Amino acid sequence: MKTLMFAAAISTFALTALAKTPIGIVLHGGAGTISRDNMTAAQEQAYHAMLAHAIHQGYSILERGGSSVDAVTAAVTVLEDSPLFNAGKGAVYTFDESHELDASIMDGRNRNAGAVAGVTNVKNPILLARAVMEKSVHVMLSGKGAEQFASEQQLELVDNSYFNTQFRYDALKRAKQAIAPQPHQAAVPYDPAWKMGTVGAVAIDREGNLAAATSTGGMTAKRYGRIGDAPVIGAGNFADNASCAVSATGHGEYFIRYQVASDICARVKYQKMSAAVAAKQVLAELKQVGGDGGVVVVDNKGQLSWSFNTEGMYRARKSEGGELVSEIFASSN
Ligand code: ASP
Repeated sequence: MKTLMFAAAISTFALTALAKTPIGIVLHGGAGTISRDNMTAAQEQAYHAMLAHAIHQGYSILERGGSSVDAVTAAVTVLEDSPLFNAGKGAVYTFDESHELDASIMDGRNRNAGAVAGVTNVKNPILLARAVMEKSVHVMLSGKGAEQFASEQQLELVDNSYFNTQFRYDALKRAKQAIAPQPHQAAVPYDPAWKMGTVGAVAIDREGNLAAATSTGGMTAKRYGRIGDAPVIGAGNFADNASCAVSATGHGEYFIRYQVASDICARVKYQKMSAAVAAKQVLAELKQVGGDGGVVVVDNKGQLSWSFNTEGMYRARKSEGGELVSEIFASSN
């Protein structure tokens, strides 16, 4: 009897182990006119190193049985702390020469979500988005109120000058020259040469739960309190265990109008399309109407993918049993 029970316990354990989904994480550090011609070997190496570091931080959490929400938070925090990307420390400048940051996070288990827009003094906006998701009854907070909530949550606050970098300041000067004849930015076609560099991550954990996180400084020379797609759930970020998780980067106005992240997952859910094919389709359609950018995606079977319609996208992934892959240019796609 005891032997039978033991055998039954073992086979139940084996079935449970078999039923577990493979863990994985995929992230991006922005898409745009990123080509070999405008990057030195040292810069290339620095990007690869930082992408790998972020993947390791996220993946090691998944490996230890941690949640996908924790994994994407950790990966995005690393990228926010690096001056290389347009999020956190490396955020672009607004027209008025300051920085306004946006971020969001979504938990695929229950479609809980948190987002912040236009924050100026929070070192890691992704941690604030997460606090909004977990510690408030709201989904999106903005500006001064979001900053007050950050302080109440005892998140690290910094002076806005913490986000200053010469590289981004030079980009602002170039952008201002380009838009000078028509100072109303909304009327000027977006020039991808002003650099995008939003960061984001999606992951699947041992329990098969999906999560997505996105963080950005927005677009260079933005003004009038402009908010992009990154904090807009369904546009720059989406996660639902029923379909997939997506984090986006690109020309936010298009990602909002075309609801890029949720459209990809809707195709997976209702048209039974693979997430990789859905992402490719949506990005191709976006290109047709003039929207530049890219996405990283994970579906609920643990398939990781990325898709972009620009010259390059900083990106990296690691799935269970696989090597870490990190790429920058389209040609290595
Ligand atoms: N999507 C971001 C925005 O429009 C910009 C980017 O991805 O670089 O704010």
